[in-house]
Amino acid sequence: MTAETHVEVAILGAGMSGLCMAIQLQQAGITDFLLIEKSSGIGGTWWDNRYPGAQVDVPAPAYSFSFAPNPDWTHRFADAPEIQRYQQQLAERHGLAARTRLGVAVAEARFDAGQGRWHLLLDNGDRLSARFFACSTGVLNTARWPDIAGLQDFQGRLLHSARWPADVDLSGLRVGVIGTGSTAAQLVPAIAPRVARLSVFQRTPNWVLPRMDRRYGRLDRWLLKLPGYAPLVRRWWVQVMEWGRRGFDEGTLARRLMLAAANAHRRRSLPDARLREQLAPPYPLGCKRIIYSNDYYPALARPQTALVTDGIHRITAAGVLTEDGREHALDVLICATGYDTVRPLSNVRIEGLDGRLLSEAWAEGAQAYLGIAVAGFPNFFLMLGPNTATGHTSTLLYIEPQVRHAIACMQRVTREGRRWIAVKPDVARVHDLAQQQRLSASVWSRCKSWYRAENGRIVAIWPGYTGEYVRTVRQPEPAAYELG
Ligand code: NAP
Repeated sequence: MTAETHVEVAILGAGMSGLCMAIQLQQAGITDFLLIEKSSGIGGTWWDNRYPGAQVDVPAPAYSFSFAPNPDWTHRFADAPEIQRYQQQLAERHGLAARTRLGVAVAEARFDAGQGRWHLLLDNGDRLSARFFACSTGVLNTARWPDIAGLQDFQGRLLHSARWPADVDLSGLRVGVIGTGSTAAQLVPAIAPRVARLSVFQRTPNWVLPRMDRRYGRLDRWLLKLPGYAPLVRRWWVQVMEWGRRGFDEGTLARRLMLAAANAHRRRSLPDARLREQLAPPYPLGCKRIIYSNDYYPALARPQTALVTDGIHRITAAGVLTEDGREHALDVLICATGYDTVRPLSNVRIEGLDGRLLSEAWAEGAQAYLGIAVAGFPNFFLMLGPNTATGHTSTLLYIEPQVRHAIACMQRVTREGRRWIAVKPDVARVHDLAQQQRLSASVWSRCKSWYRAENGRIVAIWPGYTGEYVRTVRQPEPAAYELG
């Protein structure tokens, strides 16, 4: 058996939140940590999502940490490689390579209450023990394949958008895309001009708003290097997006404007009345993630593109058989079908107090106090955990206070000479009930989406504004936690 390595903090995942945790730990004087990343490079979702057209849909100045503004963004909406470069630079600037293990996953984690330590088994057989275990895996990391009969019978090339291989050349091929979410809306315009024929299989049409992108020129970059300017631009965008949050509430001016903009965008971009009708969303705006795109509708209107709205009956060796009896012959089938978001971390066996498994605690869907702490799982902290996603702003605004909260909990354990800290079960329960009650009256309860479990529970979304979250989370409420 391999000897166990000991660290103070084990961080699972080297995406945005893992990097933020590592950097903030260093700043708090805690340098004995290890980042464990299953992919072969750092970046998390921005390393994994290499499909053509992958971009962020939050203005880049707000998609950088407050402590690390980036004057080099080339566009307001940065693309995946540019964001991954930003992450790489952060890692280099803070000397994180020596504290990162790439290409290895955590298979099991068990908390020993007597020692106040987590014992981790990695998938290469290595063992690690850590006082604190921070899971920075977020929700969008386990690719979800569609539950469609015959998927494995397909004799052409089968791809998932979130696991895009480097050697894909779609030129001149007949390509099918299943899914019409944010990913497909970026992928479809990027590949449409290259392929011989594109069939887009749509189950639900989504709301699309214009994307107000622009190039950042030399003047922008010069200004962004001036002290104080980048934080100002960041603050401006954060405020604009906070205003946009009102658009998710019925009866607001913001909602009326967003609806008018989306309807005008559909009318202007789609001269064909039938296509316009096929692309009219059947659910209230904001219930599923809003798409921001100027080229998705035009890509669907191309003569070489077919929007297929008949349900999929099954996948065959040659392509996709739809309910109307038509077989759509394909060389490549791309599943842009999203992620398993209801039970994150289901690929890791995580055992807390009294042998309780996280998968059991989350049987009805993931839940955590403030998205960070789970009752019965001491010294365990989630970044971008349950109910901390938003449909309107940058996730980085949520990561920073979560990291501060987790580190403050770790420091309390050390300061008070205790072995562990965990959220009190009744505090977690009351928090969850109040949150679910707020959510049940929100727009997110009015359709099916990756925000919700099969039982209707909303597992992903924070019900309020960013300011409320930041204020609540910034400093842990001492009475909310118990120590052992
Ligand atoms: P998604 O929003 O979950 O969309 C999955 C799509 O696949 C939906 O259109 C869904 O249809 C369809 N689908 C799933 N199973 C199907 C089946 N069996 N048959 C037919 N259709 C099926 O996934 P995503 O597009 O990858 O996006 C996930 C999230 O990632 C986004 O909401 C966003 O938060 C993030 N993202 C962000 C960006 C960005 O920043 N620009 C880009 C990409 C992704 P139904 O709607 O009918 O279920």
